[in-house]
Amino acid sequence: TSSPVTVTVTGAAGQIGYALLFRIASGQLLGPDTPVRLRLLEIPQAVKAAEGTAMELDDCAFPLLTGIDITDNANVAFDGTNVALLVGARPRTKGMERGDLLEANGGIFAPQGKAINDHAADDVRVLVVGNPANTNALIAQSAAPDVPAERFTAMTRLDHNRAIAQLAKKLDVPVTEIRRMTIWGNHSATQYPDLFHAEVGGKTAAEQVDESWLRDEFIPTVAKRGAAIIEARGASSAASAANAAIDHVYDWVNGTPEGDWTSAAIPSDGSYGVAEGIISSFPVTSKNGKWEIVQGLDIDEFSRGKIDASVAELVEEREAVKGLGLF
Ligand code: NDP
Repeated sequence: TSSPVTVTVTGAAGQIGYALLFRIASGQLLGPDTPVRLRLLEIPQAVKAAEGTAMELDDCAFPLLTGIDITDNANVAFDGTNVALLVGARPRTKGMERGDLLEANGGIFAPQGKAINDHAADDVRVLVVGNPANTNALIAQSAAPDVPAERFTAMTRLDHNRAIAQLAKKLDVPVTEIRRMTIWGNHSATQYPDLFHAEVGGKTAAEQVDESWLRDEFIPTVAKRGAAIIEARGASSAASAANAAIDHVYDWVNGTPEGDWTSAAIPSDGSYGVAEGIISSFPVTSKNGKWEIVQGLDIDEFSRGKIDASVAELVEEREAVKGLGLF
């Protein structure tokens, strides 16, 4: 057993937080040999609810959980943190313009980025879940010049897992038959789930489904799954989002399996013509605790158009944030 790893969760009293914290404390984030110290960040009016969740965490008597701190102060929350899961965000409410949404979130993610810059551990890894996740991650990263840019990531793993599940259902195969799924671009309706590089039983997925299913059903179903869950459940997806956050960090720390890859939004180095610096989803492997973009994939015309459209949206979001003086 090693020394405790400090994990900070923001928005800890929210739905995703509730689904996430128990799995972190039980060892599913970092593995069964790693003790965890939790730091919960909430806005002042939600601190009491976070305290309630902490009481339940106590009541689980998790052997790996060495302590819980609850605070509304980002400098305290990120002090010495090794893994930061930024879940709390300002959701888009009816009638809210995109600029207002970005501004409200800039007010959350810029100070959190600065607190991470000033107080987190040297090996800090950041995963942004709160939407608009890619641009929130960019805002936080821009406020943290002393932290290597690559440590700021955003979650597209839920989209990735949804794509695998949809394809497995369609072909009536177990999810374990599917490899090399990719989500490209933004965690938004423009995201591009790519079946031209995905493999089922070792053969290209796109060759095993109708083109019309791929284009008119698969892509929109994956992209609009969040709305379908809200419609069915009366609340947005939470356990599946928490599960994806666990998958993302687990793979980042422990590596991806040989011969496979996953999807994560990471700062672009210009690969595949994706504008440098934006935080965009790519096919990635993880080795020695670092994400690497899978290189050398052929991008056909259809995929090119889809990737370019999602990247264009991210570039626009970056410009909007710049225009607001957020960085
Ligand atoms: P949730 O826990 O359901 O969601 C939190 C964030 O995750 C939202 O921005 C949501 O975006 C996003 N998200 C990303 N992917 C998904 C997905 N696939 N499915 C669902 N959500 C996804 O929200 P709650 O309102 O229950 O809780 C938010 C908590 O955050 C509150 O307790 C609030 O007090 C707190 N908060 C904390 C802050 C802080 O710590 N400084 C700042 C702001 C809020 P979307 O809305 O687009 O679904």
